[in-house]
Amino acid sequence: MTLLLPLIRQQSLQCSKISKMETTILLSNSENSIKSASEMIKNGEVVGIPTETVYGLGADALNPQAVKKIFAAKGRPADNPLIVHIYDIEQIKLLAHDIPELFYTLAESFWPGPLTMIVPKNDTVPDETSGGLDTVGIRMPAHPVMRELIRLSCPIAAPSANRSGYPSPTAAKHVLNDMNGRISAVIDGGESRFGVESTVIAFDDEKTVRILRPGSVTKEMLSEYAENVIIDEAILNDLAEGRNAPSPGMKYRHYSPKADVVIVEGDFHAFAAYAGSIKCDGLYCLVFDEDDTKLLNSEFMTYGSDSMEQAHSLFARLRELDEKNAKKVLVRAPKKDGVGLAVYNRLLRAAGFEVIRV
Ligand code: AMP
Ligand code: MG
Repeated sequence: MTLLLPLIRQQSLQCSKISKMETTILLSNSENSIKSASEMIKNGEVVGIPTETVYGLGADALNPQAVKKIFAAKGRPADNPLIVHIYDIEQIKLLAHDIPELFYTLAESFWPGPLTMIVPKNDTVPDETSGGLDTVGIRMPAHPVMRELIRLSCPIAAPSANRSGYPSPTAAKHVLNDMNGRISAVIDGGESRFGVESTVIAFDDEKTVRILRPGSVTKEMLSEYAENVIIDEAILNDLAEGRNAPSPGMKYRHYSPKADVVIVEGDFHAFAAYAGSIKCDGLYCLVFDEDDTKLLNSEFMTYGSDSMEQAHSLFARLRELDEKNAKKVLVRAPKKDGVGLAVYNRLLRAAGFEVIRV
């Protein structure tokens, strides 16, 4: 089921103001659809785009008016910068300067793919895109639809396509849920492969990489190329009062469904006993595929076995839990290394750092 609305209405091609848009067009990932979407982007409109991480809300990264529409559609604070997505390494020169050698080494190893690198920005990148910072986060995505869109249009600024604070979308229907009537179109490219957003890194010096957001390019993978890889303390801890966020996104509530999420550390038997002791309407458990769910008295869902599967399904499960009107969700704590660190980081924020040990 990819093509629901085959025709792009002329009316919506002309329509660029959010207030005038009644519905968002769902496009297939055909060549013609991608061409139409690229015209929209060149016209300064916003389009939901599949990527290998999560769905993005894409607009012309170098057009401040277009970029403002992304912030308006998401309800995103203006100081939270957008990642700029490029098609080939040549586009770096247009966007950034003083690029360390290590940047190119990592680009060669992990691009196209889920790695965003922060470097000093050129004036071509508007302040609206960089949230007023003098740096810019750059990524070369791997998803063929996103790549073709950039090739046909321009560097594309694209944050995750959710309303600010809500779980990121990993399917076109999630984007429509959040954005219907707020953006011009969404391209349906199926489920996102990784399911968590890109790894974001900054360079402390020529040999040191600082992870600001963990993702599918892990600390272990980066360590093969960088002498030092630091995991910023804000990844696993609530920002200490008075400490400046090295990445503005760290300051904000994130990934939260309506339900109250609690992470429960401990083995499954202790988890089940704890869940059984809680008396609460709308209680759900989010556990691993292999857990013996017969031991649970409450409703439950599973979110995979290994870290890759958990990353792939976490956001979709959080959205499903809202659809089921879950009030409280107890989640089995994932591993904290490899891709597990990305899953744990998203869950920590979804839970407002509420962790219980049993
Ligand atoms: P999203 O756009 O939802 O994928 O989130 C992008 C994340 O990257 C946010 O947490 C941003 O704060 C962070 N980010 C983007 N650009 C920069 C930058 N220039 N400096 C620091 N963090 C950045
Ligand atoms: Mg986001």
